[in-house]
Amino acid sequence: RKFFVGGNWKCNGTRDSITQICAEFAKGPSVADADVEVVIGVPFVHVDHARAALRKDWQLAVQNCWIGKGGAFTGEISAEMIKDSGIPWVILGHSERRHLPELKESDETVAVKVAYALSQGLKVMACIGELLAEREAGKTQEVNERQLKAIAAKLKEDDWKNVVIAYEPVWAIGTGKVATPDQAQEVHEQVRAWVAANVSAEVAANVRILYGGSVTAGNCKEIGGKPDVDGFLVGGASLKPEFLQIVDAYKSA
Ligand code: PEP
Repeated sequence: RKFFVGGNWKCNGTRDSITQICAEFAKGPSVADADVEVVIGVPFVHVDHARAALRKDWQLAVQNCWIGKGGAFTGEISAEMIKDSGIPWVILGHSERRHLPELKESDETVAVKVAYALSQGLKVMACIGELLAEREAGKTQEVNERQLKAIAAKLKEDDWKNVVIAYEPVWAIGTGKVATPDQAQEVHEQVRAWVAANVSAEVAANVRILYGGSVTAGNCKEIGGKPDVDGFLVGGASLKPEFLQIVDAYKSA
C-alpha cells in the first residue's frame, strides 16, 4: 500500500499565506517517484490559487461537496464541478462536518456524498472516528464500524480503489492529544478486519487507512511505523513547514 499523506487546511488561510507555505513546501525533495502520495485539502475559493502555488508532485483536494447532482442548491458545490475543475480528491465525513452543531452531517448523508462523489470520478478521503465520550464508554469499535457500514452499504467493490479511510479520533483532532501508536494500530486493525469481513479480503489488503489527530513532525514516525497505518490526515501541521517532515515519514513506514 502506497503511503498517503493528506493535509486539511480547513477554513484557514489567505492568498498570501498560501503563497508563503507553498514556497516552504517547494523546498522539500520531489516525491514524484517516491512511495508516497501527498494531497492537500484546500478551501474552495483557494483552489485556483493553491493549484498555481503548490508543487506539482502533490495533488489537491477539497473538503466537502454537495450530496448529489448540482442544481438549485444555493451555496453548494457539486462533485461534477469539482471534477470539472480538475480537482481529483474530496475529503468527506470529517468530524467537524459530522459534529459541529451548525452542520451535523449524519452517517447517511456522508455515505450518500461518498457514493455520489465516486460516481462522478472523484477520489474520496472518507473520515470516521469516535468522540471522547464514545471511547470512554467502550464504544470506539462500534462507532467506527457504524460509520463505515453506512458508507460500505452504498459502494461497489470496485469503488474502494478510489477511497482512502481516515481514522480520526475526534478527541485527538486539533487538541494536541494524539492517540498512542498502539491505540491507532488497534483501531486500524479493527477497521481492516471489518472491511475484510464485510467488503472483501482484497479490498482490506489494499485500502489505505490513515490516522488523523494531532499528527506532528515529532510523533509521525512512530505512528506511521505501525503495520496498519498507511499514512496520515493532518490538520494544523499541514499549514506549517513541518508538514514536509510528516511527508518524509513514508521512509520509515
Ligand atoms: C484534521 O483536521 O483532520 C486533523 C487531524 O486535524 P489536526 O491534525 O489539527 O488534529
